[in-house]
Amino acid sequence: MSEWNIKASNISKRAHNPIRQIVDKLKVDPNAQKSFISLSVGDPTVFGNFNVHESANEAIKRQLDTFKHNGYPPAHGTLDARDAIARKYSIPDVAPLTPNDVLLANGCSGALDICVNVLCNPGQNILLPRPGFSLYKSLAEIREVEVRFYDLVPENNWQVDLKHLESLIDDKTACILVNNPSNPCGSVYPKEHLEAILDVAAKHHLPIIADEIYCDLVYKGNTFYPMASLTKDVPILAVGGLAKKWLVPGWRIGWILVHDRHDAFAAEVRTGLLNLSQVILGPNSVVQGALDDILHRTPQSFYEETISQLEHNAKLGIDAVSKIDGLTPVTPQGAMYMMVGIDMDKFKDISSDVEFSQKLVAEENVLVLPGQCFDYPNFIRIVITPPAGSLQEAYERMAEFCARHRK
Ligand SMILES: *Cc1c(COP(=O)(O)O)cnc(C)c1O
Repeated sequence: MSEWNIKASNISKRAHNPIRQIVDKLKVDPNAQKSFISLSVGDPTVFGNFNVHESANEAIKRQLDTFKHNGYPPAHGTLDARDAIARKYSIPDVAPLTPNDVLLANGCSGALDICVNVLCNPGQNILLPRPGFSLYKSLAEIREVEVRFYDLVPENNWQVDLKHLESLIDDKTACILVNNPSNPCGSVYPKEHLEAILDVAAKHHLPIIADEIYCDLVYKGNTFYPMASLTKDVPILAVGGLAKKWLVPGWRIGWILVHDRHDAFAAEVRTGLLNLSQVILGPNSVVQGALDDILHRTPQSFYEETISQLEHNAKLGIDAVSKIDGLTPVTPQGAMYMMVGIDMDKFKDISSDVEFSQKLVAEENVLVLPGQCFDYPNFIRIVITPPAGSLQEAYERMAEFCARHRK
């Protein structure tokens, strides 16, 4: 070649984070009169009111001082770390786990990446929830796996439209991804509903990727059921991690729990998972050293305080937003989010969720993510982890904003 002409690869062109593209359209004005309130970041640590428990920090410091965790651990995690996870999540007789059924990864995102990679070939399709966490779509698209969205029904606490789900299945379907509790919905599925989804998977012999990163983060009156605890039939790769429940998303520790049934994963998938985890060393060594302490010695009060603050904030959100004409919140049952429907007919100069978010941040310096980030227009997602005072202030500004723009 006679001159420099360097092209980016096709794979890099397919790689994208849909949230980034939409959020880039929402301009935060650095000279705004009003203080900036972000109800958009899914990172509970940024406001200072949700903090890692000190015992986890102490555990990390102790491990650092042993000088034992500075080398390369096995790619899928140390035996001690996998054993700590197996003991935490094993349900004897129902969904038993040994350390050999556990792989660590670079965060729950890394775990999801490995799961999509091991189950899906280019040209196959994957069934994803709509609305849903945008990473799923990105992981599929980068590999040229066709995305088919199954509908969640807001009037029914975001339960799956089972008929729709089943109608999407064909002989190219590789797996079904289920996210419970859900980001962005804040829904927590009852046992019967999870069983109904499992029935569809069993009927068509499809494995499930269960994203259970928000396990146990459920409000009073709701119960979290691990999907694997409800089936003797359907093979499941359940993914989780430290990010949300232990409030340390930056520590980058996630995991895959292999719940085999009928030995369906034995022939190929287990080897595939190991192969994939060995490409690049994902999980952090020091955190692995501290994992047994973090999972088994964090006091119960830490989890209770997290939930109680989230629940308080969820209630505050429902109370405030349901009073705003034109907005309809869907009551969250867990996780850290609340979806709010926008009745476009009520507004004179707002015609989409993106426009709603754009104008809200421009006029009130309050940032919310439009539903389009989750492939679900006419909604916004509100993160309920900011301190109650900031949330209150944000809802007051939203109420004034809506009043100004209503017909
Ligand atoms: C935050 C989140 C993850 C990613 O977790 P990391 O451990 O930070 O990679 C995965 N799934 C859902 C639904 C999430 O909200």
